[in-house]
Amino acid sequence: MSDSRWCGRAASVVASLIIAPARRTPRRWAATISNMRCAKFWLLASALTLLPCTALLGQPYQGPIIDAHGHLGASFDWKVMVEGMDSNNVTQRTVMARYYPGGPRDLPGSDEDALRLAERYPGKFFPLVGMQQPLLTGSHNWQSPEREVERLIEEAERKLASGKFFGIGEFIVRHWSYSSGPHAEQENPIYSTFMRRMSAIAARFDVPMVVHMEGYPVLVDDFSRLLAEYPNVRFVWAHSCGRSKASVIRGMLARHPNLFCDLAGMTNVGTTGYGIGWPRMEQFTALIEQDGVLFPDIKALYEEFPNRFMLGMDVAHASGNALNNYSRRVNRFRDLLGQLKPETAKKFAETNAIRVFRLSSAVTR
Ligand SMILES: [Zn+2]
Repeated sequence: MSDSRWCGRAASVVASLIIAPARRTPRRWAATISNMRCAKFWLLASALTLLPCTALLGQPYQGPIIDAHGHLGASFDWKVMVEGMDSNNVTQRTVMARYYPGGPRDLPGSDEDALRLAERYPGKFFPLVGMQQPLLTGSHNWQSPEREVERLIEEAERKLASGKFFGIGEFIVRHWSYSSGPHAEQENPIYSTFMRRMSAIAARFDVPMVVHMEGYPVLVDDFSRLLAEYPNVRFVWAHSCGRSKASVIRGMLARHPNLFCDLAGMTNVGTTGYGIGWPRMEQFTALIEQDGVLFPDIKALYEEFPNRFMLGMDVAHASGNALNNYSRRVNRFRDLLGQLKPETAKKFAETNAIRVFRLSSAVTR
């Protein structure tokens, strides 16, 4: 049983002790009064057992939040994006254009769209050079880039040189299909010519790379090689470091000071999202919470590495760009942050994203 469910049971026991006497007939009041001492005792005992629950869950985090894992498609309603942020005290949001097609109601986006969005709402949106590109489907393009991919690399350099982009991503290395189509399931090599070329560019422009890679052990080893080869590049391994278990994340963070983790889509809410084990789970994957309570090993990991995690709502499709969906994810993150030390929570919510994406430099750009 989870802690929160246990808290719920304890609360209902206390409620029954309070409510039950009120329903009794007058002639039974004498007996009730004689039992008051007993009831008082149980009330006190129950209240004491509730104390650890309150201490465990804490108050939801109240401060501003940065959404460090956002996407954009041409069908996204910008006003809904802004409304979701403003009504939830989300002050800033990274934007990664999703070039993959998504049907007539979920048209692909572009870096140019992301720039327009950022210009329309100054200080709110921070574009990354988008890497959810159809032409990157297929490992051959990663091992030996052809002319089209060469052009993509050159374009990325040109965009970064403009100073208007704050990172590169999301690189779709290993992705599990949740829809049909040729780009749904992806199996690309992390240690490859393409990723090494892009890492060199990221180092030159001092921008982070956001990577989506489900945590297959063999891929984790390959990622280690890349991280070690480019120590000056900040890598953000999305979705709780590929939904890896706490022990694996701990090992990688300890070995690689240039590795960061975003918790994009990792809230255990709704019917989609990585935090509910969607679209599938494997032996090496893990969730971070259940019923709004962090798992103890995950909580310990967060306190051990307070400078290495950030949040993300991961709205990637027009259908998910809705106020209720966005609010649900933000609110759950607020519940989870409330279980961490206040200084750790603030780092997760804001400080780490500002540092990793150099958001404070935005005003000078
Ligand atoms: Zn992703």
